[in-house]
Amino acid sequence: MQLLEVLIEYAQSSLNRPFSYVYQGDKIIRKGTRVLITFNNRDIVGYVLNVIDTNKTIAQLNEEMGFEIQEIKKLIDESPLLNEELFSLLDEVSSYYLAPKISFLQAMLPPSLSPRKSALKAPGIAFDYYYEVANDDESNLTNKQIELIRLIKNEGRILKRNVSKAKYVMNLLDKGHIVEVKEEKRRLKIPNYKYEAPPALSDDQKSVIDEFNGSKDLVYLLEGVTGSGKTEIYLALSEQYLKQGKSVLMLVPEISLTPMMVEYFLHRFSTHIAILHSELTPAERYDEYRKIARGECQIVVGVRSAIFAPLPNIGLIVLDEEHTETYKQDTLPFYHARDIAIMRAKYHGAKVLLGSATPSLESRARGSKKVYHMLYLNKRINNQKLPTTKIVNMRDYKNIDRDSYIFSHALREAMHQTLAKNEQAILLINRRGFSTNVTCRSCGYVFTCPTCKIAMTYHKTDNMLKCHHCDYVEPLTGSCPTCGSSYLIKTGFGTEKIEEEIERLFPSAKTLRLDSDSAKNKNKIPLVIEAFRNKEANVLIGTQMIAKGHDFPDVTLVGIVLADIGLSMPSFRSSERAFQLITQAIGRSGRKDKPGYAIIQTYQPSHYAITFAARQDYEQFYRKEMEMRKLQFYPPYAFLVGITIKGKNEKKVIESTYQIVDYLNEHLQENGLVLGPATPYVPYERGLFLRSIQIKYTNRELMQSVLQNMQQLYGYSSHFDLLINIDPYNF
Ligand code: ADP
Ligand code: ZN
Ligand code: ZN
Repeated sequence: MQLLEVLIEYAQSSLNRPFSYVYQGDKIIRKGTRVLITFNNRDIVGYVLNVIDTNKTIAQLNEEMGFEIQEIKKLIDESPLLNEELFSLLDEVSSYYLAPKISFLQAMLPPSLSPRKSALKAPGIAFDYYYEVANDDESNLTNKQIELIRLIKNEGRILKRNVSKAKYVMNLLDKGHIVEVKEEKRRLKIPNYKYEAPPALSDDQKSVIDEFNGSKDLVYLLEGVTGSGKTEIYLALSEQYLKQGKSVLMLVPEISLTPMMVEYFLHRFSTHIAILHSELTPAERYDEYRKIARGECQIVVGVRSAIFAPLPNIGLIVLDEEHTETYKQDTLPFYHARDIAIMRAKYHGAKVLLGSATPSLESRARGSKKVYHMLYLNKRINNQKLPTTKIVNMRDYKNIDRDSYIFSHALREAMHQTLAKNEQAILLINRRGFSTNVTCRSCGYVFTCPTCKIAMTYHKTDNMLKCHHCDYVEPLTGSCPTCGSSYLIKTGFGTEKIEEEIERLFPSAKTLRLDSDSAKNKNKIPLVIEAFRNKEANVLIGTQMIAKGHDFPDVTLVGIVLADIGLSMPSFRSSERAFQLITQAIGRSGRKDKPGYAIIQTYQPSHYAITFAARQDYEQFYRKEMEMRKLQFYPPYAFLVGITIKGKNEKKVIESTYQIVDYLNEHLQENGLVLGPATPYVPYERGLFLRSIQIKYTNRELMQSVLQNMQQLYGYSSHFDLLINIDPYNF
């Protein structure tokens, strides 16, 4: 009999331990496979952590354990889900991030292989069936049969379903002239891309590559201004590794926003590529995953979760736009793709290349300390100039246009000129919707989300109030739910309002809008981008989605409608984020031969994030921001950990949070600064009350052991769930 230690599919801290089951059948169960089990009278999926052969009887085991041990219901997999590397990576990440192993397994595997009940209904493998010629001796064959044999020989093989099931085909099969072959089908359809030969590398690009190749360091940070040709470096290095028989993992922040990167790779290496991102169907993801695991692709292009792709023999891992928030998963399991890239590169003896025009402070600081090897591209390709920039102080009413409180004279005038020259403009406003708040003038009621208790945004297109944190929506009825008054005011503005303003002020302009509302339909993003590139519109209005690496040759004006939005966010990263966003957005202007212009409207014209972004001066920003971080003891000078306690009973949640804070203070003493209990920005989530604790510290080993003990002591409570977020992005 086999005694199994099984992790169950629920990723709650209180259930994060193996449960015992037995198997009395004749199959041999291997660790790392899934089993169907009964847990609390429900059928769920478990993951076998360990298998012990035993001669004991069930009665003896029951006696020993003190409960009635159950038999598993079914064995799901014959062989382990993860290869050896990923199996050990699973241990490494779950102990580094102190997260339930099951949550990492669920993040690593495609839906069809995931240890969760829904996987049983997820798509399986699909096959294509082909005929191939096994014996081309034509004697004794009919003319029809000869015709078919010759056809198959010419084509190499043909799809079975394209051949009518005539008798003579059966006859050929029986006699062994042709054979049926089955092959796994690839459900992701990738169009054929014409090969594009690489351009000659610039001298700057060459020296970056030489320096990279000449070093034995593990991690490289390529800091290159927007338009300096970083992509070409990724492509050239990929080609080099491919030639050496090694594989390449290319991570991008978001595929739908940056389809260009995938296209560049497809043009250069089409047959070697697998693609992994969240918009694939489960079937497509399953096929891509298996194709990678079989070693049939040497290059994987994907988003954050692709960092777990079962790619063998990795030589290079690239993270483009390494500063991007999307590389950090801020829900369970909390992880950063950069850290995992480094873990995997160590295993494979590979290198990690991080690229950005505006590196994260953490990475850049590691560059200064030579933990990462710095590489620079200081000029745009062909020495195109960076755009000329103007900062407009919106606090001074003299700067504001008389017809519109949103536009300055400068931006309105620049828009006129751009449109008159038949060039294109991008307007960035990092907030979707029409107005940010709806308030009752009579009683002061603010329309708030019932689930998260934060103010909802009004969307005019569908006349709905929407919570920008959860998915909650409700129609705006026009009267206050508390006092019944219909005197409601809408304040603040977002993308929809800007679109309306443009239509009012520039009636001849053709606009396109891109934000996550307009992108609800997932095919819409590439269509909007394509339409704008084809000049079907001359103004593109959008949120940060439009600031990402697009190359629009005719854009000569970028207007940042309100640069302050990011700066007022309650996060130590608000300056960094505002700087990155403004720099990236301005970088869209004047990328081809026409000079670019950019206007930044702001209430804080002398804020360093804005002045340095206007000059595209990353290094100066970095120095100033490092001073601020040092003063406030924030990363990179300190490490952070965020702890969230959530449960149904608010009183219990608060009490437990206080206990945990006391525990942490007692065990950390001078070695950590414990802040909290705090009520998070979103204090309530699907019936659960949330409280949080933040810790700043410098000694990772010590912190790790204190957190482990804390988890042992408080993690298994049935009153609340304990979530630990190591290196949180926002907290
Ligand atoms: P970045 O990613 O640094 O913003 P890109 O890689 O998008 O910059 O490069 C900017 C532009 O320069 C692109 O249109 C790209 O095709 C072009 N480019 C890059 N390298 C070369 C080169 N060696 N020769 C000619 N054009 C190049
Ligand atoms: Zn009211
Ligand atoms: Zn909500």
